[in-house]
Amino acid sequence: MENNLIYQEVLKHVKEGVYFVDTDRRITFWNNHAEKITGFTAAEVLDKYCFENILNHVDDEGTHLCRQGCPLHRTIEDSYNREATVYLHHRQGHRVPVMIRTYPLYDEGRLIGAIELFSDEKPPTQLMKEIEDLKVLAMTDQLTGLANRRYTESFLSGKLLELEEFDTPFGVALVDIDHFKAVNDTYGHDAGDLTIQMIVKSLVNAVRSGDLVGRWGGEEFLVVFSTVGFDQLRQISERMRMLVEASSVQREGSDIRVTVSIGSVFVEKTASKDRIIRLADRLMYQSKEQGRNRITLATLD
Ligand code: GH3
Ligand code: MG
Ligand code: MG
Repeated sequence: MENNLIYQEVLKHVKEGVYFVDTDRRITFWNNHAEKITGFTAAEVLDKYCFENILNHVDDEGTHLCRQGCPLHRTIEDSYNREATVYLHHRQGHRVPVMIRTYPLYDEGRLIGAIELFSDEKPPTQLMKEIEDLKVLAMTDQLTGLANRRYTESFLSGKLLELEEFDTPFGVALVDIDHFKAVNDTYGHDAGDLTIQMIVKSLVNAVRSGDLVGRWGGEEFLVVFSTVGFDQLRQISERMRMLVEASSVQREGSDIRVTVSIGSVFVEKTASKDRIIRLADRLMYQSKEQGRNRITLATLD
């Protein structure tokens, strides 16, 4: 196959509308996605002029671009690439917003027409981007990048709904750093923050991908385990404890090391969020009382 034909074969299948026109704006190539976006088949448009009531782009203000300001036409005239958002005419009559890009087409240095690429993916507006950013901000804790308390609570509510509907048991663990006040007192508050960030990484690495580690309070974390068995909950809780114990952060020549006390609750029957968290808190305090750096586990009855 000639190179040109190979390129055309490839372009036929790209996920963007593609068409070529010659310098008279006669359509010489029309790919599959162009057909999908516009409803016009290649057979219907090839060899037609693009201003012959086919696509009839209009811009935001309703200007008919075939009559004035057609980006493709202007690219043929001055060889500049262009980008625009226009509304094209669908075969069924309605208008479709597309982002278009036009490029001059050369053959051995001679201008032979232009190419237009168009996509029907709506460009995200600035407002949409800002809303997305705000959503992320509203759900995350700034120091650690973890889910914040509100989002963690709503994730827990989701697990309770799943339990009611699909009978899938889940787990919750409350994790509190041991003697953390001493870290602040000895190394300063900034070093304390650094220690929290370091521990969070070890906790996240200890859990599975569907589990959620949330920042519950200053140096307390609530972990929600999706569909889990009792033994598995014990295993992962123990892994969190062990990985934190084996972690350290360097600060001014010294290694800061801390441990955590954990209270883990296995939930197999529906209950209120409050009851689950109260039990996790009680179990965590048992771990503290029994010497810290340990896990205490129970099933919610
Ligand atoms: P325990 O083993 O009983 O948990 O002892 P503890 O000293 O850790 O006691 P507690 O959990 O009550 O102490 C919390 C301390 O953590 C007090 C507070 O100054 C510190 N802290 C809470 N949030 C932050 C934070 O965001 N950054 C830093 N650096 N310290 C924090
Ligand atoms: Mg605490
Ligand atoms: Mg503590």
